[in-house]
Amino acid sequence: MELPLPELPAFDYLHASSAQHALEQLGGSIARTRVLSGGTDLFVQMRAGSIAPTELIDLKHIPGLATIEFDENSGLTIGAAATMNAVARDPEVQANYPLLVRALETVASYQLRNRATIGGNLCNASPAADSAPSLLVLGSRLTLESVGGQRELALNDFFKGPGETALTPGEILTKISLPLAPTGWKGRYLKLGRNTSGDLAIVGVAVLGFPDPEPTSGFRFRIALASVAPTPIRVADAEELLETTTLSDESIEQAARIAQDLARPISDARASAEYRRAMVFELTAWALKDVRQMLEEEA
Ligand SMILES: Cc1cc2nc3c(=O)[nH]c(=O)nc-3n(C[C@H](O)[C@H](O)[C@H](O)COP(=O)(O)OP(=O)(O)OC[C@H]3O[C@@H](n4cnc5c(N)ncnc54)[C@H](O)[C@@H]3O)c2cc1C
Repeated sequence: MELPLPELPAFDYLHASSAQHALEQLGGSIARTRVLSGGTDLFVQMRAGSIAPTELIDLKHIPGLATIEFDENSGLTIGAAATMNAVARDPEVQANYPLLVRALETVASYQLRNRATIGGNLCNASPAADSAPSLLVLGSRLTLESVGGQRELALNDFFKGPGETALTPGEILTKISLPLAPTGWKGRYLKLGRNTSGDLAIVGVAVLGFPDPEPTSGFRFRIALASVAPTPIRVADAEELLETTTLSDESIEQAARIAQDLARPISDARASAEYRRAMVFELTAWALKDVRQMLEEEA
């Protein structure tokens, strides 16, 4: 039988027993040594020949790296090796961050989500990563570790370009931390793919809104987009407009237009850049109107 892609090239496999063990083995050469989580991106890229590491360090069995913990005072901490299904099934995540659950449930199939980790989704740095927009509007922060110690940074500062992140050679992502979600918040993740299941996003839009007496509109909004720029992006100017004007169909459409103007999509096998830009407007307006309705129903 002829395979559509070559077989996986040979590699050395290291089963890391602790983060320290993994980091000591990692060294500085990303071309030679890579960390392995679910392998759902890594093995595809290795088979396609776009990367050729000769050593893989498996993070999945490191104690604590897949832990999901919720604290009523500080929020949620997700270990980077937690699978998408484990996160989406967690009762505290379901109760406190349903927007993230919804976003994860749009990824591929149940079977794939049993392997794919949330850390791998971020570190692969695809502009189409479905977890990214929701994690961005929820104000996530990342913990990165190396043999030298650990540092924290906002998810907003993590993505540098397609496949590029703020990770330096020898560093791994260990935790994703979400603050407590704002009181009374409502959210929506809308994903447009070529079919209703199992496809990468042509456009992904996450919107989060919550009441706040301070801004003119009485609400604050956060908006993030996937698959329409070199990285997942926040749309700060549209967020500001929705806070400083009275909330109406017109202001929502103006905000959606700002998102459309900010988008820098490419044309590829899934959609043309022009179609993507048009859909950024439609989906952003749709998500904002849904969120406004949910907020008004609760007011
Ligand atoms: C058929 C199919 C459909 C898909 N559909 C979707 C979809 O709809 N939406 C979507 O967003 N994605 C989709 N994907 C992509 C993929 O499943 C996700 O990006 C997945 O979450 C990657 O996680 P992983 O654990 O498999 O990562 P891996 O493949 O193990 O790793 C991905 C990259 O991140 C690095 N890495 C992994 N973990 C860490 C860490 N802790 N620290 C530092 N670097 C790390 C690896 O070295 C590698 O470079 C699809 C993939 C396939 C094969």
